[in-house]
Amino acid sequence: MNGLKQEKIKETLNATRKRRKRQIPRVYQLKLQNLSKKDRKKLDRLFLEAKWLYNYVVADIENRLTKDSWKLKEVEIKTPEGFEKRDINTLSSQMRQGIIERIKIQGIKKKFRVLGLHQIPENSEPANAQLVKKPSGYYLYLTCYLQKEKALEEIKKKQTRQPIGIDLGIKHQITLSNGEKISWYAEETKRLKKLQKTLSRKQKGSKNYFKTKLKIQKEWEYIQNKRKDALNKAISHLKKFSLIAIQNDSIKGWHEGYFGKQVQNTGIGGITARLKRLATLIPVFFVDRYEPTTQVCSFCGHRQKIPLSERTYKCPLCGKEIDRDVNSAKNILKIAVEKLKGEGKLLKTLPVDCGEVTPVEWAITHGEAGSLPL
Ligand SMILES: [Zn+2]
Repeated sequence: MNGLKQEKIKETLNATRKRRKRQIPRVYQLKLQNLSKKDRKKLDRLFLEAKWLYNYVVADIENRLTKDSWKLKEVEIKTPEGFEKRDINTLSSQMRQGIIERIKIQGIKKKFRVLGLHQIPENSEPANAQLVKKPSGYYLYLTCYLQKEKALEEIKKKQTRQPIGIDLGIKHQITLSNGEKISWYAEETKRLKKLQKTLSRKQKGSKNYFKTKLKIQKEWEYIQNKRKDALNKAISHLKKFSLIAIQNDSIKGWHEGYFGKQVQNTGIGGITARLKRLATLIPVFFVDRYEPTTQVCSFCGHRQKIPLSERTYKCPLCGKEIDRDVNSAKNILKIAVEKLKGEGKLLKTLPVDCGEVTPVEWAITHGEAGSLPL
């Protein structure tokens, strides 16, 4: 590569980096519509080979993950009958190289009709696309960059000046410091349980077995979509507040404990991830996970041990009784406000009203939000 060309590439990269600073990424899901049987077969094969290659390398990373592993033309896969060889001949070298990260569409030279284009705002900049196979069909995940200012305008229109604290829980996934509770426990449906029973009676490997299996996968996708929907609604509700305070990594501990399964079902693990992304648009303050937010009375600051089964916080000192989760949410907000005040990030404080969380005049601008200790 000559020097001039390199210089040009560097320039383009710099320009993009500059532009990205004023943009936010958003991923859109588009469904591929007009796939012919042949296209589908080809795509199926691509995904199959990708899976084989991936599994093969992952099964023995130490020996198989080399700088040449993308050159593999043949892999061994484990079947009920033992190990069998499989050819890798549909995947291009580039695809093989990027196999773990993403799979690009290749070898299908036609225009796709897609469902869902209306979601994408006009002046957004598409950056990359990823092909994803789901039980219900093929999807394109299109990453677009939106103008940050536009996104902020949208948020500001709906925003109140209230700060809010969030407590994440099992029964109600989100409890807010203002007493609001948001729950969306999307249970495994009866249909899913029935299908799983049916599957157990089918002969493994038979046509009916695969038919039932596909139905199960589709049902899973449906449940997953319902959870995603609920999470989206919750996030857009949270965008109305001028500051969000949440305890960092409060989910992590649960995963290790006996709540593991329930936490997964509720899909609240996704909340903190979404909030971290939201933090580029509105101030989100993550309170240290070791702060004793459940034990402290949010009215007087008294601290006591409170058993997990006790849903109400009863303070022996000031006599106040309050829902356990609301109490935590209030404490989380309080800690955030104190920290921010200490750092001089809040302009002025309005009068306190009887033990409630201090209403604050929020002076954090979005530009400054990036400098919050997240
Ligand atoms: Zn108290």
